[in-house]
Amino acid sequence: MSTAATKTYNIVLLPGDGVGPEVTRAARDVLRVIGDFYGHHFEFAEHLIGGAAIDETGEPLPEATRAACVASDAVLLGAVGGPKWDGGKARPEQGLLAIRKAMGLFANLRPLQVSPVLAHRSPLKKEIVEGVDLIVFRELTGGVYFGEKTRTADRATDLCEYTVPEIERVTRAAFQTAQQRRGKVTSVDKANVMETSRLWREVVTRIHAEEFPDITLEHALVDSMAMHLIRKPRDYDVILTENMFGDILSDEISVLGGSIGLLPSASLGAGGPGLFEPIHGSAPDIAGQDLANPVGTILSAALLLRHSLKLEDEADSIEAAVAAVLAAGAVTADLGGALGTRAATEAVIDAIRAIH
Ligand code: ATP
Ligand code: MG
Repeated sequence: MSTAATKTYNIVLLPGDGVGPEVTRAARDVLRVIGDFYGHHFEFAEHLIGGAAIDETGEPLPEATRAACVASDAVLLGAVGGPKWDGGKARPEQGLLAIRKAMGLFANLRPLQVSPVLAHRSPLKKEIVEGVDLIVFRELTGGVYFGEKTRTADRATDLCEYTVPEIERVTRAAFQTAQQRRGKVTSVDKANVMETSRLWREVVTRIHAEEFPDITLEHALVDSMAMHLIRKPRDYDVILTENMFGDILSDEISVLGGSIGLLPSASLGAGGPGLFEPIHGSAPDIAGQDLANPVGTILSAALLLRHSLKLEDEADSIEAAVAAVLAAGAVTADLGGALGTRAATEAVIDAIRAIH
């Protein structure tokens, strides 16, 4: 229990669509309990995004939501999208792209830890994935997704472009995180054929030498990396890569652990509030039935505490509680358990109480 005066943190909740409201509520309840134990006041403000926002306002990102997010200490998002809005003029996913842009988010982080008790659920052999503990840093603003596109009847181009400052900022974020972990960064590129990758490798090498010489740095080509990740995923600590390679590798990595419902993510900018969300989508097939696994969102709340609020012990508490609950088998149906969203959330809260 902290002796310092209660500090208030402003957290914007964006429940969104499908299972989003259920899992966001779960993470909010866990944050409240953590706030009580450590003497922080988390002030929650709920805002509309995605399909829910389209229904109410006609737009996937209303101005009130944008303004609240930018002015907050951190944003916790559930999920956006669903069949209801398919084929409509306004698309829910535009809300997510727009808020990432408005908040200046340039690094997407996806940690993966494979709990020994769940390793048997992985499509890979238990002995390969058991104990995996890695984090992907994906650059979010540059590369081929945002380059100029051209198209004629028989020719198309996508320009891949990176600037030195774009590479520098995500590289520093990755090295800083490596300092708090096992001290190793694997930078992934395609420097044997791509000029942007040669620049990437040059900048990463320089930042390493000038600012983080105590970190172990290795470079890998994305094709062989895709192979190594399923042969020996335990070898990796921090994986740093550009936008498209990161998109592909993070999906590959997300299946190593067994259930998509477990995994959190963070998107960070330069010092401002970050955006935290589970990696799963709105799961319309199970929405509103108390079936969704809340753990991905609860672990996203832990990332929020660590990366935006700088509350490391509080983040550790949530992660330890989740690990205890998984080890005890108090899990939802996607992991073969019998608990609903609410009961699984209560199990995490009980485990937090048991730790303190
Ligand atoms: P998006 O395009 O938004 O990523 P998607 O259709 O690709 O969405 P999800 O919405 O993540 O993917 O759903 C994929 C499958 O995983 C569905 O069968 C869904 O029920 C399941 N799923 C997703 N999230 C969870 C969760 N939190 N708990 C349990 N099952 C989940
Ligand atoms: Mg998807």
